Amino acid sequence: AFITFEGGEGAGKSTQVRRLAARLRTGHPVVVTREPGGSPKAEAIRAALLSGVAKPYGPFAEALLFSAARIDHLDTLIRPALARGETVLCDRFADSTRAYQGAAGGLAPDLVTSLERVVVGPTRPDLTLILDLDPALGLARAAKRSAEGAEAGPDRFEAEALAFHTRLRDAFRAIAAAEPGRCVLIDASAEPEAVEAAIRTAVTARLPR
Ligand code: C5P
Repeated sequence: AFITFEGGEGAGKSTQVRRLAARLRTGHPVVVTREPGGSPKAEAIRAALLSGVAKPYGPFAEALLFSAARIDHLDTLIRPALARGETVLCDRFADSTRAYQGAAGGLAPDLVTSLERVVVGPTRPDLTLILDLDPALGLARAAKRSAEGAEAGPDRFEAEALAFHTRLRDAFRAIAAAEPGRCVLIDASAEPEAVEAAIRTAVTARLPR
């Protein structure tokens, strides 16, 4: 199965990806990966995209770079793993492009849709967990994480204004509402244990095995 995690900054995605992986790994191979990145070539594009506080590219060029990274990631890691019958957990995927470059970045929706169609093709997630959180709270969490030295400091997307992050949240919520068959909205304001339990419930209900 292909499971993706989405949400704004500081929603706790990486923690929850790790926890779900640990639980699913009992007797079954699980691949944990992330976007942008996930393969050596895609990680190189990630470094270019996240460096600097000034906007290095316009939203369209940016979307193409995220897409180039995604193509390599899909070809070299995600599709081969799924073909071997493994479970793939991915921290961010195409919904992040819809939300960041589309809804919040201002890239035309039909462009985002066409790009997604050619890049992702049939490799759509079986389940997408959307971690939903008040952006003010999420940014505070992300800032704390940087201050504690877990990260080098805010990347240029975290440095955007609160209004940008509010548009992001609205975009993720709209995706969840529009595709209830694929997406589950998870309240990420709760303690990590409670979020983990909600994710467990969603995975068991949607992907019984
Ligand atoms: O999830 P993580 O914080 O590692 O994501 C890296 C950064 O890339 C984030 O700041 C996220 O906002 C940004 N991003 C983006 N567009 C995407 C995917 C990620 O702007 N399509």
